[in-house]
Amino acid sequence: MNILVINCGSSSLKYQLIDSESEKVLAKGLCERIGIDGSAITHQPAGGDKVTTEVPMPDHTEAVKYVIEKLTDPEVGVVKSLDEIGAVGHRIVHGGEKFASSVVIDDEVLKAVEECNDLAPLHNPANLIGINSCKKIMPGVPMVAVFDTAFHQTMPKKAYLYGLPYEYYENYKIRRYGFHGTSHDFVSNRVAEILGKKREDIKIIVCHLGNGASVSAVKNGQCVDTSMGLTPLEGLIMGTRSGDLDPAIISFIAQKENLSAEEVINICNKKSGVLGLSGGLSSDFRDLGNAAEEGNEKARTALETWSYRVAKYIGAYVAAMNGVDVIAFTAGVGENNFMAREMICEYLGYLGVTIDKEANKIRGEEITISTPDSKTTVMVVPTNEELAIARETLRLVNCENK
Ligand code: AMP
Repeated sequence: MNILVINCGSSSLKYQLIDSESEKVLAKGLCERIGIDGSAITHQPAGGDKVTTEVPMPDHTEAVKYVIEKLTDPEVGVVKSLDEIGAVGHRIVHGGEKFASSVVIDDEVLKAVEECNDLAPLHNPANLIGINSCKKIMPGVPMVAVFDTAFHQTMPKKAYLYGLPYEYYENYKIRRYGFHGTSHDFVSNRVAEILGKKREDIKIIVCHLGNGASVSAVKNGQCVDTSMGLTPLEGLIMGTRSGDLDPAIISFIAQKENLSAEEVINICNKKSGVLGLSGGLSSDFRDLGNAAEEGNEKARTALETWSYRVAKYIGAYVAAMNGVDVIAFTAGVGENNFMAREMICEYLGYLGVTIDKEANKIRGEEITISTPDSKTTVMVVPTNEELAIARETLRLVNCENK
């Protein structure tokens, strides 16, 4: 079955068409600037070139129309007609406490996702627009919702509660949820598969280090803690996000800079992290690495502060699980940036970690980077959230058909 995976943002729509049997990507692409002047679709069939076409896309329904047009195009398309798309898998950012796993989308699910809008006001409404647009263009094609938060729903109360008056949890569901769940689930499963063990039998710490970044602790096959919170702003220092802060800083900056709390939060989301620490130089680790090598002090400080925070979270999760067997790095930085991995692993001597520096230089591949005598195994495991969504979609559609 061919499965269309959709990841819808407020003005963008990413897609991949995946053959569920071979698990190969048949085509992928991106619609940008939806609802804004200069909207365009970039489409790439497997083995072919990327082609960008500027087309007016006043809304997401129009964008989905163009996606289907490209996928069925006689020249750059990969299927003959819509009939060859068996199901659609949607990435949904926030499932609140309502969704601990993926679900087949029906009217009730749509209502429940809408009820989570409050928790992710920038993301969930866009995700819903994506679903409704697909419903219009592809009526009758089964659709599945895969939630970023679902994998973390197994966290115990002591891990997800904030030290706030309990009524805020009861009344507003203010608690830690965690994100990147599809990736943490995929990578921890893959770690077990590679080692030929059951996930239930090993303690794993997954470091998803991309522009957005989070760490999770997986014990007995389940997530027991993760670094992001009510929103993706908590936890690690990221590309542009601050991560953990003393909350009093918000009103302090607001007062000093004459800004609203919302404006300060916006700075914490978009202008902080390694971008902010490097004095606005870059959020990209390649730029920061190069600048640090050329003697840029702020770039060096940004990388040092970033890696120290990751190491501290690893330490916290070793304590939470009373040990760790495997530490896995994934996502853009985790998969590709050997210097970042080295900087983090330098803190892990107490876990008996020794790194094979040559193996660590390999980029973007599944590889064990610790030496055979290392007491804790350290691996690089590329994530594949789209494939994970396609697998979930197939599993649920098959269940429905049984
Ligand atoms: P992601 O959000 O997972 O796409 O990750 C984006 C981050 O990955 C950026 O900060 C990039 O610097 C980093 N990244 C991607 N490719 C490479 C690479 N080849 N070498 C070093 N860093 C990379």
